Amino acid sequence: MIIDLRSDTVTKPGTGMMRAILSAETGDDVYKEDPTVNKLEAYLATLFGMDEALFFPTGSMANQAAIKLHTQPGEQLICDKWAHVYNYEGGGVSFNSGVSCKLVDGVRGMITAAQVEENINPPDFYHSPLTSLVCLENTTNKGGGACYDFSEIKKIKAVCDMHGLGLHLDGARLMNAIVAKKESPLAYGKVFDTITVCLSKGLGTPLGTVLLGTKELMKNAIRIRKVLGGGMRQIGYMAAAGLYAMENNVMRLAHDHTKASEIAMVLKKQEYVLKIEPTETNIVIFYLAEGLSEEKFMSDLEKEGIRISNMGQGKLRIVTHLDYTQQMHKKVLEYLAAYKK
Ligand SMILES: *Cc1c(COP(=O)(O)O)cnc(C)c1O
Repeated sequence: MIIDLRSDTVTKPGTGMMRAILSAETGDDVYKEDPTVNKLEAYLATLFGMDEALFFPTGSMANQAAIKLHTQPGEQLICDKWAHVYNYEGGGVSFNSGVSCKLVDGVRGMITAAQVEENINPPDFYHSPLTSLVCLENTTNKGGGACYDFSEIKKIKAVCDMHGLGLHLDGARLMNAIVAKKESPLAYGKVFDTITVCLSKGLGTPLGTVLLGTKELMKNAIRIRKVLGGGMRQIGYMAAAGLYAMENNVMRLAHDHTKASEIAMVLKKQEYVLKIEPTETNIVIFYLAEGLSEEKFMSDLEKEGIRISNMGQGKLRIVTHLDYTQQMHKKVLEYLAAYKK
């Protein structure tokens, strides 16, 4: 038995989702004639109370399209130093949009309204790039599934409004945050100009991210998706998986969160663990005590069929998900509790 805790992207569709995929009604989505894609887009737009929605193959492409919609070449966006858009999208911000990133030294991937304010270049000072966009991430990936306090998001929005900046949310794991903090998607729709909601992380589909936005900003979204190579044909099969996930896999994210916090509780008591980050959702990040290397620990786990990931700088990461069963969980807890270096 392989217990894969490297990421929540390793899940495979179960019978319910497969049935939804196989019975999907499809059409050519480049002509906007795929009824299932149209239904998924309408579903998410309504859920978040946003004007428009567009289905993308990946979260990276949807984030990159959003950045392009908000900016002109030579401009600058503000994000945390750990942001996915800066670290893990292949330099797409500069490649696709000709934009630079002003990196903020936030806490667990989250930044404050005061930090945003401090990092805006004065618009009249033509020597520096024009600041035009702020990108937030919720939950944060490199920050270990941390969730923003919604009151801070509102303060950031006020700063953006005061300075005429766009506000984008990388919501690869937004549903995890909404479930963990018992928030409302509508509140997010009111504050952000654009939001990406990923269906292939904790929600468990094989692919797909929906970009949501205001009518004004989204006018050009379909053109940019085409330029990036993201126009898809009978992709309703995957939209059907997305609809299935929205209806069946959202509330159950709470189980992933419980399992992650149970793993964190066991790790916290172990001598071989130096430090563990607060665990708010489905990601556990921890550091090993001196004398035990990440390589040794990971290869010992691998011998038991347990896979976790090494994030570098001493960070080890465990991510719980849909395919991580109670039986696997029991085995992992027992193994971690009994482990000797
Ligand atoms: C996974 C992820 C994305 C999108 O990644 P894709 O693999 O391109 O779908 C974006 N942002 C964050 C924070 C992520 O974790």
